Amino acid sequence: MTDTREPPLVLRGSCLCAGVAFEIHGPLSRPLYCHCGMCRKAHGTAFRARAGVAASHFQWVRGDDLVTWYESSPGTHRGFCRVCGANLINRFDAHPDQYGLALGALDDDPQVRPQCHVFVADKAPWFEITDTLPRYDGFPPRA
Ligand SMILES: [Zn+2]
Ligand SMILES: [Zn+2]
Repeated sequence: MTDTREPPLVLRGSCLCAGVAFEIHGPLSRPLYCHCGMCRKAHGTAFRARAGVAASHFQWVRGDDLVTWYESSPGTHRGFCRVCGANLINRFDAHPDQYGLALGALDDDPQVRPQCHVFVADKAPWFEITDTLPRYDGFPPRA
């Protein structure tokens, strides 16, 4: 019997052009929606849906040479495919053991769902939050 709520053993993801692919062998943490201006610009939409992943659980399957890093704020590097522009993962100089994963890059259902909205103070004026998840003007309180 398979519990459908169990996360898959391997989560697969890829970019829009499929030149880059990756696998995650472990759980995701702190799934959320970020409305900050940098995420809105990077993704070209109202917010970034992201989750944390341990760097040791993440591996490129192909195309890691296509991943280009943009330092959007000091120490935060946004990795995207240089062919198609898809956002993939962020890495952080301050905590290199964790990546920030763009949930939209996943091909599998991670089972986890975003738990809150952050940087709501920077939210796009043309987007209305219509769910009942907690909202924070900046970072969420540390659990
Ligand atoms: Zn691509
Ligand atoms: Zn953000």
